[in-house]
Amino acid sequence: MSSDANLWYDFLAPPRIVFGWGRRREVGALGAALGRRAFLISGLPPAVAPGVMGEVAAAMKAERIELIVAEVICHEPEVDDVDRVAAELREQNAAPGDFLLAIGGGAAIDLAKAAAAMAVNSESPTVKDYLEGVGRGLQLVNRPLPVLAVPTTAGTGAEATKNAVISSYDPPFKKSLRHQRMVPRIALIDPELCTSAAPEVTAASGMDAITQLIESFISRKAQPIPQALCLQGLKLAVPAIAEAVENGASRPAREKMSHAALLSGMALANSGLGFAHGVAPALGTHCRVPHGVACAVMLPAALKINRRVRQAELARLAHLLFGRGPSTPPEEAVDVLIEEIQTLCDRVGIPRRLSELGVKAEQIPALVKDSRGTSMSANPREVSDEELTAVLEDML
Ligand SMILES: [Zn+2]
Repeated sequence: MSSDANLWYDFLAPPRIVFGWGRRREVGALGAALGRRAFLISGLPPAVAPGVMGEVAAAMKAERIELIVAEVICHEPEVDDVDRVAAELREQNAAPGDFLLAIGGGAAIDLAKAAAAMAVNSESPTVKDYLEGVGRGLQLVNRPLPVLAVPTTAGTGAEATKNAVISSYDPPFKKSLRHQRMVPRIALIDPELCTSAAPEVTAASGMDAITQLIESFISRKAQPIPQALCLQGLKLAVPAIAEAVENGASRPAREKMSHAALLSGMALANSGLGFAHGVAPALGTHCRVPHGVACAVMLPAALKINRRVRQAELARLAHLLFGRGPSTPPEEAVDVLIEEIQTLCDRVGIPRRLSELGVKAEQIPALVKDSRGTSMSANPREVSDEELTAVLEDML
């Protein structure tokens, strides 16, 4: 958004955000405001699952909420996962008065959001018919069941977004189920839960949040409130991510990353994303690259490809994040930004080359074809197939 643009926007965010170290213990009282039966979708790592589950069960019991484990998920959700969980919810007569409790990374939260919608929208038995760009293009008619989202990673911001990303490998696609009413009713963010995340997970999810903050900031659909959130999020996350990766128990680092991830979700839900998030789903479906890694590996290329059309905004980020004074020429400031982001990716172990992620030259045409989703359409400028091909070949 340039400074002389007309002010005209909607802004969507979770109605209630509860943030703080140790606040997962409030999950029962918060759940009681949503319903009497909780369907749990868990993405907790096995090492901590029993402890956290014990706490959640006790909290629910204290509020007389019936807790039903609907699904344990440890991969990015697929069409079959959503269809199965939604069918189970329908079988249990899930209806208003019930809610979904998602505890995990973006995968668990997105699965809960999609199942909450599909449980009460059954014009088709498969979510595929409701996804953007595939299936029959059906729309959600009934209000999804409420979702209480408790993230255990700091990255996707799924606790604050209105979409759920659903994968399929045969045929290959990664598309969103999207509706304003899919924003979780309550986002309960306890950064202490992230201390159990492995360093690689912290790195990939943290770089996802940083990519989301930068892409929302320069998006074609950028807006004033999200832009303010992006600046705050980046100012916290960029200096904190290495500490969170290298010293997972660090409370200040975990708090900053969790807060930045939440802000990134609020930003992208309103402003959309761009080039890196355009290519990431294709890397996911064709080469099984995890979402955060895919975004991070593409981030430097996204900055380079947009530097001419967003020079002022990117120079501003260089000033804010890397102390380049306003006297630094913008062109030079953007060079610094790209270099520093690349250094940050190196430091947290994100590879520079696509071949290191298993990408083969012969997959590039399919990657190009499948990079044309909602995110790419929000990129500040058009990127032709030829240009995208050249970028990917150069990164092999
Ligand atoms: Zn992302």
